Amino acid sequence: MKHLDLSKKLSNTFASLSEDFYSRVAPTPLQQPAKLVHFNPAVAALLDLPADITSDPAFVEIFTGNTALAGGAPIAMLYAGHQFGHLVPQLGDGRAIMLGETTNSRNEKWEIQLKGSGLTPYSRDGDGRAVLRSTIREYLCSEAMHGLGIPTTRALCITGTDDEVYREQIETAAVLTRVAPSHVRFGSFEVFFYRDQVEHIRTLADFVIEHHYPELADEPKPHVALLSAVVERTATLMAQWQSVGFAHGVMNTDNMSILGLTLDYGPFGFMETYEPGLICNHSDPRGRYAFDQQPQISLWNLTCLAQALSPLMDIEDAKACLAPYQTLYTEHYYQLMIQKMGFEKASDSALALTGEFLSMMQAGHADYTRLFRSLSEVQRNDETLNTVLHDSVVSQGKVDANKFEHWYNTYRDTLQKEALPDAERRIAMNAINPKFILRNHLAQTAIEKAERDKDYSEVDHLMTVLQAPFDEHPEHSHYAEIPPDWASGLSVSCSS
Ligand code: AMP
Ligand code: MG
Repeated sequence: MKHLDLSKKLSNTFASLSEDFYSRVAPTPLQQPAKLVHFNPAVAALLDLPADITSDPAFVEIFTGNTALAGGAPIAMLYAGHQFGHLVPQLGDGRAIMLGETTNSRNEKWEIQLKGSGLTPYSRDGDGRAVLRSTIREYLCSEAMHGLGIPTTRALCITGTDDEVYREQIETAAVLTRVAPSHVRFGSFEVFFYRDQVEHIRTLADFVIEHHYPELADEPKPHVALLSAVVERTATLMAQWQSVGFAHGVMNTDNMSILGLTLDYGPFGFMETYEPGLICNHSDPRGRYAFDQQPQISLWNLTCLAQALSPLMDIEDAKACLAPYQTLYTEHYYQLMIQKMGFEKASDSALALTGEFLSMMQAGHADYTRLFRSLSEVQRNDETLNTVLHDSVVSQGKVDANKFEHWYNTYRDTLQKEALPDAERRIAMNAINPKFILRNHLAQTAIEKAERDKDYSEVDHLMTVLQAPFDEHPEHSHYAEIPPDWASGLSVSCSS
């Protein structure tokens, strides 16, 4: 490439492990000419790539998988996983290929992966491809999560071609370039546990500690410390998901990151009307991965990880790592919700008010994100009811107006005692209650324009608001509106 020869910076440390951990496989070129669908300069900067790198024709070819990345060591990673509670002893990157791994000027490591780049030894019945629809969803959502301050894989770009890909209908092929410090999953350890390959479990754990948790290397029991750290990061991640209303949709252990990142975006959804039992995955009718199940499912998944690491530690140590999960999760979640409410500390009265607010929101079928955003407008000395709040909670007739009024007055009293002055509180609340989330219908509109007209302007506008979701963006305020009626008919399946 003209601007930068990535090859000088490629370290390929994961590929330096033995081939028991992955398969060497190159991307399969697509037949039709590839075009850039969208490029994310913020992620280019993470890789020390200049923002005008896309003017180099090699860029699209490399990130579609048509041309090899010089100095790269392309591999598909091996893993296993519990899918919907059932062990699948061998999975692996069925349509993702890691091109290489680069270290930037801040000494951060980034693995560069193509998703949708062709068959690998782990493709099973799949075609190794991804469709434009699902890559746009992942691209937008990973940036939305990052904008919300939630750990996640990121995305550098999407390229697309007219090659046909068969899903429920014919769609077109696209390739997403995803980056993360590591794509190691809980399932990466499980595969060796079920094969009884204890030395491989140890090698992988040592690798993860050396490269991603170096502060644990000097602990008396580094593997125990690793499990503890993953428990803590996962508990924190769950608190963050629950606080913004994000439902992942497929929390299989192969989709759980060892770094506590949000990983593998499929049939995810953001809560719009507040409904804790939200199931966003059409293929999960029993709601194993419903929104309100996520914290518990994470503990279940962490238990699978603890089992996979158990040959490296005493069972009592493994149990002791898992024990604090519930408390860690709850404390972190309460802390975030208290901040969303505008309070300074998690007092009993603040927590009670939060619980009542959520139940009224549920009964009134109100929009989670919009209602929290409007809460910052409440003024503690203003006895007239905040109309936005009042209308959205009471209007459906499901919440008694007197009940709301009582709550409102208690809320104002508590703000008086337990919050910053109005103006400062408003700023603090607007920095934790986003104006913009990736609503399903917004993604859908962007996808339809892209599919129909190769018009990516909607992707572009959404990126602007989602990368800075706490800003007002008055010119894009329509993206913060209540979804139109047709949005309720949208359903998202695992097919991607
Ligand atoms: P997911 O639940 O989407 O994370 O996928 C589960 C497994 O199926 C992973 O190992 C994926 O690599 C694999 N997979 C999903 N879609 C495809 C596809 N189109 N071709 C090959 N493998 C796939
Ligand atoms: Mg997956």
